[in-house]
Amino acid sequence: MFLSELTRRDLLKTLGLGATALGVSGLGSQSAFADFVSQKDKTVGELHDGSRATPVKLRVDGQIVRPQIALPTIGETDVLVVGGGPAGCCAAIAAARLGLKTTLVERYGHFGGLATGGLVVHILGHWTLEGDKKVQATQGLGEEMMKRLEGLPNGIVNREFGRNPTLDAEVYKYLLVEMITEANIEVFLHSWAIDAIVDDKTDPATGNPIVRGAVIQTKLGPQAILAKQTIDTTGDGDVFVPAGAAHTQRLYNIGLPYRIGNLDRVKLQDGQKPPRHLGDVTPVPGVRWVNMTGPSLDGVDVKTLSKLELNHRKQIWKQIQEVRNTPGYE
Ligand SMILES: Cc1cc2nc3c(=O)[nH]c(=O)nc-3n(C[C@H](O)[C@H](O)[C@H](O)COP(=O)(O)OP(=O)(O)OC[C@H]3O[C@@H](n4cnc5c(N)ncnc54)[C@H](O)[C@@H]3O)c2cc1C
Repeated sequence: MFLSELTRRDLLKTLGLGATALGVSGLGSQSAFADFVSQKDKTVGELHDGSRATPVKLRVDGQIVRPQIALPTIGETDVLVVGGGPAGCCAAIAAARLGLKTTLVERYGHFGGLATGGLVVHILGHWTLEGDKKVQATQGLGEEMMKRLEGLPNGIVNREFGRNPTLDAEVYKYLLVEMITEANIEVFLHSWAIDAIVDDKTDPATGNPIVRGAVIQTKLGPQAILAKQTIDTTGDGDVFVPAGAAHTQRLYNIGLPYRIGNLDRVKLQDGQKPPRHLGDVTPVPGVRWVNMTGPSLDGVDVKTLSKLELNHRKQIWKQIQEVRNTPGYE
């Protein structure tokens, strides 16, 4: 039987559980799951004959042409934030806390950007000098997040004076979901912004295009989100570049950090030196985080990025083998 045909009662019967047992077992606490199985009116599948597709055309002259199509509008909002990394989450939470209707778009299925998905878990630039006194630079929402991470198991370490805090990527992903839902932000995940929507009039004061939102690429095709204000926190200018904003493009060192676990099980001989590539501590005992400084290249060129991914995976594998070949680390 397909899941969509199951009623809640059918499912309980199939699992051999009564409603009480479900509640007690813990499964019952997942109310979203219960909602899902109660949708007995859903069809199993829908036949599409392909007649509504609008593919890109390869013309006889060899030009590849995207057809002009009207886009469906998936949302309208006061503030649209594109990019759910630390910057985007802070921008969205700040806007929502001011009472503005806020929408956050992210291309992946989680928040936190490089800090979570990219495993850049070390917070540098956290301290600065005021005269000759060292003071904490990160304040506001950044500090609030770190305080909340301290309250979660294995959320953050190195919060002491002068040290660089290090967070756990999974705990931070969870905290961001908590803060974003608390702030009542509308969320579009798995949605890749591919274009800016600009007004056909320009701003009379500056002559600049007026941004009215963004187009997101989804599994159902491109869709529009209209907004009074659009904030681009993609890190790559994926909205302000197509909108026509002046910008500087520069190269950057592109590496691939990774984590290594089970190090608490290692027993070193007296006087034995640990191998290289053991990185820094994380909030999880026995797990360390290893950074990698890659070559300075173009981070928006997909050929370069693909090459780097392949190269860096091999590099990480080599480093791990080096660690494993050290007595005690097998
Ligand atoms: C290898 C490396 C090492 C670093 N080391 C450190 C360090 O040690 N300490 C430190 O503090 N900082 C470090 N940084 C920098 C740090 O990662 C960034 O400063 C921080 O992540 C910036 O946050 P952000 O939100 O601006 O960007 P990001 O974290 O890059 O977030 C951008 C978000 O936008 C999303 N996005 C991108 N394009 C689109 C699109 N078109 N549509 C929808 N969503 C999109 C991404 O998926 C991502 O979630 C490092 C960066 C790198 C690459």
